[in-house]
Amino acid sequence: MPQEAPIPRFGHKPQVAFFDFACCEGCQLSVLQLEEKLLEILGHVDVVTWREAMTETSSEYDIAFCEGSITTEEDIERIRAIRKQAEVLVTLGSCASGGCHNELKNQWSMDEVLGVVYGDDAGGISTIPSRPISAVVDVDYQTFGCPVSLPEFVTVVSCMLTGQHYEPPNQPVCVECKLNDYVCVYEKGEVCLGPVTRCGCNAICTSFGHACQGCRGLMDSANLPAMLKALTREEAHSIMRMVVERHSLTEDEIAAKLRIYNNWPELRMEEAQPDDD
Ligand code: SF4
Ligand code: SF4
Ligand code: SF4
Repeated sequence: MPQEAPIPRFGHKPQVAFFDFACCEGCQLSVLQLEEKLLEILGHVDVVTWREAMTETSSEYDIAFCEGSITTEEDIERIRAIRKQAEVLVTLGSCASGGCHNELKNQWSMDEVLGVVYGDDAGGISTIPSRPISAVVDVDYQTFGCPVSLPEFVTVVSCMLTGQHYEPPNQPVCVECKLNDYVCVYEKGEVCLGPVTRCGCNAICTSFGHACQGCRGLMDSANLPAMLKALTREEAHSIMRMVVERHSLTEDEIAAKLRIYNNWPELRMEEAQPDDD
């Protein structure tokens, strides 16, 4: 969980390092695509380590941006060492902050997972259930999204450099969707996970008419039983009924959709079964 205090104000130009753990490294790539905004940020910090962007490295840094999930015992030691060095640690994107795809493997035993991936060559390879960085060390700031929501990244950098806290939003994507007056994709018969997903991306997918796939993870108070009920029962709201009739989704299929981005530890489908009233 994010630390409450203290958030340091830097008395010098802070040195920044980027690190990656198990992930596709798409969040770092997205940050590089900030282009002009990135140049503006670089006026306030010195980047000393960023494997995706430069060859130089340094073991001295004030701020660590960490991407990816923790999937080995070695990862635990490495992130602890980074935490010890960094005055401020920021998790970059949903793999690091909430879990994301990596946690899909947690549905099976690690032996099964190793067998499926490496077959007869699995001997000597070790792995542990995947978890976000925020589950292993204290973090000062969290950013979500797959890839990371860039407006949120810029907001976090601004808060960090001015000594302010940042609390990730904890409302559904529907709030941003409605504030922008976007047409609900349920009206087109598509299944959208916006009602249970943490906002903060300004509903970018629904702005293009696409359903939210839930990449920012579940908001804290996500009502999964209600979501299941709305998508599987014909007494649901008329718009939902259109979706039910079109897709005939089973609870397992809805659970599979939710699991794409949510497995650590918030998705408890066994606790989310709707009441049989
Ligand atoms: S959050 Fe998504 S884009 Fe970012 S590193 Fe993980 S899988 Fe890649
Ligand atoms: S399109 Fe999705 S996010 Fe937007 S209002 Fe409808 S359900 Fe909510
Ligand atoms: S609309 Fe949903 S899937 Fe799209 S960026 Fe936002 S949280 Fe992710």
